[in-house]
Amino acid sequence: MSKIRVAVVGYGTIGSRLADGVAVQDDMELVGVADVAPNLSLRALQEIGAPFKVFFVDEEKKDKFAAAGVQLAGSLDDLLSQVDVALDATPGGVGARMKDLYSKHNVKAIFQGGEKDDIADVFFHGYANYENGIGKDFLKLTSCNTTGLVRAVDALDRVVGVEKVAITIIRRVADPGDTHRGLVDVLQVEKVPNHQCVDLMKIMPHVQATGLLVHTPVTHGHIINLLATPKEPIGVEEVISIFKQHPRIRVVKISDGFDSNAAFFQYARHLGAKRADMYEIGVWEECVGLSGNDVMFAIYIPQEAVVIPETIDGIRACVPMQTDRLEAVGLTNKYLRMQARA
Ligand code: NAD
Repeated sequence: MSKIRVAVVGYGTIGSRLADGVAVQDDMELVGVADVAPNLSLRALQEIGAPFKVFFVDEEKKDKFAAAGVQLAGSLDDLLSQVDVALDATPGGVGARMKDLYSKHNVKAIFQGGEKDDIADVFFHGYANYENGIGKDFLKLTSCNTTGLVRAVDALDRVVGVEKVAITIIRRVADPGDTHRGLVDVLQVEKVPNHQCVDLMKIMPHVQATGLLVHTPVTHGHIINLLATPKEPIGVEEVISIFKQHPRIRVVKISDGFDSNAAFFQYARHLGAKRADMYEIGVWEECVGLSGNDVMFAIYIPQEAVVIPETIDGIRACVPMQTDRLEAVGLTNKYLRMQARA
């Protein structure tokens, strides 16, 4: 029997692994893989010598593959015209839209767990109901958990018979790199300059600013590291003193126990602040330093409460309630019980 020709449609988490799996079957030929975009898996595939042919799905996005250095062997139609079976590994719900195309090419298709059960003739598991899939045009695989679950229960069932099962699933929330599911065990970077620097220049046009932003899976505040170039040299002690005199900056010491972002949150709890809100930004005294004449320091931003004082200042300005800046912010500070600690 000649080799069965297989296509993988959707070269993501599952598709890239399906392709590897098919490629090592002696009685199958992986004709190629198709995707809508030159994702990281496809870029890596090129870098290791393009072992599989790549086909595009969308004519309009074809140029993106060339721009990413991913060589194309043709379109999805070209691929489907050369295969017997398509393994659909597109995101849940997309496979349903692809089904007509598979039918048009007279290609059998196997869908993954994210599709609805009615997409296929058979809800399939290789060990538990192989016979049901024989000769069928469309199969749908069980999800990852169900696949393992059925595998184990079937193993027992075939030997001793199983009357009932009750299960508890402790489910991983995302695959590595799944930033679309939220930040889970990942640090997500943004392009330079981050919008905060651009915004700073809108408020203070005389200061040049640029910067990098890395999203972290943390909820108790941001930390901004700054390197500021002063117009004239300034010492570390003077910098600390300037910050201490600012009513909306709280200067703390690592040696006192403020060794993290969460320490500020904890401290606000001990102060009895409502919701542990903190209006001030924080500065760690031991984190102020010099690089030549440039001043290096880090600020803690309690993101939930930090804009409250400046917003109240805004009320004072827009009415206007005060026309003098220091009078206005001073009143805001007074009513919010914020004061310099120098
Ligand atoms: P994924 O997002 O990692 O990969 C999907 C790929 O399909 C992406 O590269 C995307 O660009 C591509 N794609 C999107 N639309 C396309 C189209 N029209 N044509 C071709 N390619 C297209 O998704 P995944 O995690 O691999 O999930 C695929 C299927 O496998 C889903 O049904 C999912 O429920 C199921 N599944 C996932 C896991 C898992 O752990 N991730 C486990 C078992 C089953």
